[in-house]
Amino acid sequence: MDRKINNVAVIGAGTMGNGIAHVFAMKGYNVHLIDISEEALSKALNTIEKNLDRMIKKERITEESKSQTLSAISTYSELSQGVSKADLVIEAATENENIKLKIFKEIDATAPPKAILASNTSSISLTKIASVTNRPDRVIGMHFMNPVPVMKLVEVIKGYSTSQEVCDEIMEVSKSLGKIPLEVKDFPGFVANRILLPMINEAIISLHEGVAGVLEIDGVMKLGMAHPMGPLQLADYIGLDVCLAILKVLHSGFGKDKYAPCPLLVNMVTAGKLGIKSGEGFYSYDHGTKELKVSQSFS
Ligand code: NAD
Repeated sequence: MDRKINNVAVIGAGTMGNGIAHVFAMKGYNVHLIDISEEALSKALNTIEKNLDRMIKKERITEESKSQTLSAISTYSELSQGVSKADLVIEAATENENIKLKIFKEIDATAPPKAILASNTSSISLTKIASVTNRPDRVIGMHFMNPVPVMKLVEVIKGYSTSQEVCDEIMEVSKSLGKIPLEVKDFPGFVANRILLPMINEAIISLHEGVAGVLEIDGVMKLGMAHPMGPLQLADYIGLDVCLAILKVLHSGFGKDKYAPCPLLVNMVTAGKLGIKSGEGFYSYDHGTKELKVSQSFS
């Protein structure tokens, strides 16, 4: 294929990484999916296959396109192997600054010098991430939304030193995936999560203070504000650990009390109630995600 970017390495095969691998592979890129956990890699391949089957059922893709997509993805548990031939690396590992800085140092040392290094971080400073590399002009934020195969937006974040050429290239790559990229500057939470997370936190505070129950809080936002999903259900979907990590970045980045995470959210994460990925959050997911059942802790 005649394009500058053909080989894409995706680091982290969790909620977001599998979706990112899916959309790149479907558009004919060679995808190298990397995770330190073998279990996460096989779970990711299963999820991608299930999502492709759903698309076949809806007659959006053919069996042939499913097998082409799956054969375009190879998996690695060794980061240096996975990125050694990459034109573009997208890091989608756990939302933790130390983990990301360590990964970027390693990618910078092992990926080809011309490769663009992108992060799917929800809130961590791209300028900070870029500062641990020797190519800060080629580091950028490529913030996909969940679920990646469905959501149109890619929030493209230009760090302090990101070159315009790299930004233009990432806008083009995003469009090649059928997405709509929007460029924003590098401030805590960027635009999406600076606005979304305070709303989710306020919904949790309302529950914590007993203003209303889970179904009522979500119902008010769905019926009254035409949100497709209530904020508590959305928090379960995002992952409560990810929500907490983003709020901490907003809180320390802006130094304002209004971003302080609700103690209930902190407790739930400490107790391992992380939402869909752990089977329970504000709702319980024993029977899948279709039927909404409020978690016993709140019913
Ligand atoms: P997740 O917890 O589902 O998955 C993270 C994966 O990273 C895990 O499989 C873990 O094993 C892997 N990992 C951790 N350290 C690693 C390392 N050193 N090398 C390779 N793999 C490593 O997390 P997620 O929800 O997919 O989030 C990933 C990133 O995407 C985060 O930065 C998050 O903020 C961002 N994000 C999340 C959402 C969401 O809705 N969950 C939306 C947009 C962006």
